[in-house]
Amino acid sequence: MATQTAQVAVETTVTDAVARARAAAAWWAGQGWDGRRRALLAWKRTLAARIEQLADQIRDETGKPHGDAVLEVMLAVEHLDWAARNARRVLRRRKVPSGLLAANHAASVGYEPLGVVGVIGPWNYPVYTPLGSISYALAAGNAVVFKPSEHTPGVGRWLAAAWAEAVPHEHGPAVFQAVTGGGEVGAALCRAGVDKLAFTGSTATGRKVMAACAETLTPVVVEAGGKDALIVAADADLDAAARAAAFGGFGNAGQTCAGVERVYVERSAYEPFLAKLGELARGTTPGEEPDARYGRMTTPTQAAIVAAHIDDAIAKGGRAVVGGPGSVRPPFVDPVVLAEVPEDSLAVTEETFGPTVVVNPVRDLDEAVERANASRYGLAASVFTGSRRTAVELASRLRAGAVSVNAVLGFAAVPALPFGGVGDSGFGRIHGADGLREFSRPKSVTRQRFTAPIDLLRLDRSPAALQRAAKLFHLRHARG
Ligand code: NAD
Repeated sequence: MATQTAQVAVETTVTDAVARARAAAAWWAGQGWDGRRRALLAWKRTLAARIEQLADQIRDETGKPHGDAVLEVMLAVEHLDWAARNARRVLRRRKVPSGLLAANHAASVGYEPLGVVGVIGPWNYPVYTPLGSISYALAAGNAVVFKPSEHTPGVGRWLAAAWAEAVPHEHGPAVFQAVTGGGEVGAALCRAGVDKLAFTGSTATGRKVMAACAETLTPVVVEAGGKDALIVAADADLDAAARAAAFGGFGNAGQTCAGVERVYVERSAYEPFLAKLGELARGTTPGEEPDARYGRMTTPTQAAIVAAHIDDAIAKGGRAVVGGPGSVRPPFVDPVVLAEVPEDSLAVTEETFGPTVVVNPVRDLDEAVERANASRYGLAASVFTGSRRTAVELASRLRAGAVSVNAVLGFAAVPALPFGGVGDSGFGRIHGADGLREFSRPKSVTRQRFTAPIDLLRLDRSPAALQRAAKLFHLRHARG
């Protein structure tokens, strides 16, 4: 009974928030490109001016070092700025060619707001990740109801409070609201009649979100997990590759959706690369100090998953080059480098989300691509090579939403680039022009300018007109 009452309370809270958002959405859409841009840039300035305070909030809830939190906000603000400044250019109504059959019509397409967008976020980058949806949805003219992770509710509330302050109009606060709580609040948001639901989190929860949204045919964006591979070619700068693998693998305690979890190295570079990465791993320790390389595992359950993957890799014949089962000392996990790990191990097939990296040798780059693509995930990938040609070829062959060459996570800092995965990493795109369109509805308009010489769109169409049109059609398509 008590649970049922709690569930009703959750649904009421969420439904009320969506109803408030719906009323405010009309006002927000009516602000036009300039009004929305001004409001978004005012919010941006608040975030930028109070970056230290927001970073403290992130650190307190996630355990990541303050510096990492600052960097996260900086990246998020770049995206917010881009979305605010580019929405008009990308989404405004524009003419399109009307083609031969409709040459007497003027044709145009414009992108309209959907209305209210629900955003469900994870805890690992509690500002950067959800703002990838929120900034673009707001810039496209939608109101947003945001459900932050239950591990980072304070960050969600902070963002909404900063918004309300930056947009001091009676409807302002309802344009962007945060509703906090666990999965039950997320589930209620899926069923609350929003016009689109942007989910970022694990693949397993993504499935539940899709199932709930299916009940009301609510469209979804799913930004889910990853098992990203880094490929090291024999001609690569091995120092740079090892540094990138260490940053992508151990940074944020490995709790990065597009972090490095697997490394495939061409045989001749394998031992030197492993030695370099091993040295970097041994020199890296997590901690609570502001200048620690990375912090604690954010959630208590994550350390157990990491331990299980390490144990399984070793039991299946993998070699722990740095660390091992003893590296898991909750809430911290020291860096772990696992080598020659069988491809059917959990550490290769499942998202580990911890500071562990699997390094396996490959015969050649074909085998590297084959193994990288063998995952059911496909979020991002990295390639290290001294050859631009090889880089271009590998980037096109990798089954991933984004590829970074001679660096890791390069795409995350480019607001104009869309971000999203394939397979179990999800679908739909945030960021860039595609991200703006993801939260818009294209509307096509044609306007007849004059009556067509061959007018077919009428009930009393003459057979001779159709015959003439069919002749032209034949000339154009059967021969052309
Ligand atoms: P999670 O799936 O446990 O939770 C994500 C969000 O979903 C939380 O807000 C949670 O409360 C909510 N939720 C839980 N059950 C729900 C339900 N039944 N209905 C609706 N919402 C529900 O994920 P997490 O542990 O918070 O985040 C880590 C995961 O997120 C990792 O898999 C990581 O790879 C992924 N991630 C992906 C991206 C990306 O852009 N692709 C970015 C960051 C994180």
